[in-house]
Amino acid sequence: MLKRILTCLCMFVVLTCATTAFAKPAELTGINAFDVDDDTLRIEISYRGGKLFDDNVSVDETSGIVRVDLDNALPGRISRASGAKIQSDVKDIVEKITVNETKARHTRIQVFLATEPEAVNVSLEPADSAAKKDARVIVDVKKTFAEPEPADMSGNFNGGGRVIVIDPGHGGSDAGAIGPTGVSEKSVSLAVSLKAQKLLTANGYRVVMTRTTDVDVAAPGVSDATELQARVDKAPPNAAVFISVHCNAFSNGNANGMETYHAPTAVQGRRLATLLNEELERLGGLNNRGVKGARFYVMTHSKCAASLIELGFITNPREEKLLASDDYQQKLAQAITNAVNRYFSQGGFN
Ligand SMILES: [Zn+2]
Repeated sequence: MLKRILTCLCMFVVLTCATTAFAKPAELTGINAFDVDDDTLRIEISYRGGKLFDDNVSVDETSGIVRVDLDNALPGRISRASGAKIQSDVKDIVEKITVNETKARHTRIQVFLATEPEAVNVSLEPADSAAKKDARVIVDVKKTFAEPEPADMSGNFNGGGRVIVIDPGHGGSDAGAIGPTGVSEKSVSLAVSLKAQKLLTANGYRVVMTRTTDVDVAAPGVSDATELQARVDKAPPNAAVFISVHCNAFSNGNANGMETYHAPTAVQGRRLATLLNEELERLGGLNNRGVKGARFYVMTHSKCAASLIELGFITNPREEKLLASDDYQQKLAQAITNAVNRYFSQGGFN
């Protein structure tokens, strides 16, 4: 009899351990924010040690801050200063992620978003040893502003105050490439950019220009990195798109065509570069050299979707003439505007 009671007591103790604060706490091993698709941002919180159950996790959202409270969890090696990884293609949406142990064995993760989400869903995933993944709390944030709407090419699309940065390449002491009759890249990039600024503003965007006159953005004679960083720094934290406008050049005057670039792993940057490429192709007349990944400074250092476009070869006599013409510059500006409208109005890009 006594023996039986002891067994019961032991069982009671074991059960208590499994369900109260004596349970081994989970320890966070990583936080990763990335896009699942155009509509969904995923915050993946990995952990080891103790197991988290549905009632350990609560999530709420107010004014664009998604708060994830984890009971029986420790921040582990994730500190306030480091550990939360925000992928470059979601940096326009995720402003920052903070992690704090708000009380003993209770960790709060706050995700600061540039927009109010439409819905937030939470699920728990077990560890996957084959994929070398720890157990995860998955928070899917449905974005409000990526709702697919029919594209409107009539110029009536409303940009809704979204911030677009236009960067006219070169300027001031740096003329960029020079065409056979002396047309400079810095003058073409500025003329097209100013026309795009007008069109985008008329479409309801807030346009930030890195320069509006023939000047160096940092200062004459500084290093390339300093000059280019000064351009990147013109982008406010809520900038959605950064477009750098350039003309191509080659020693052989026969080289011709346009091309658009994105940073190699930037999903939204690639999408932007693809739309810009399609709209430039729609103008006709110029050989399409394609959409390419490259590590250009302004693309790899921008926190938002970024693309650098080469409008054509200024060293090619025919294209130099086109690039210098007011009419063609206006068409190029319209192509940029159409691409930006499509970037925000069309979903479903893979
Ligand atoms: Zn250039």
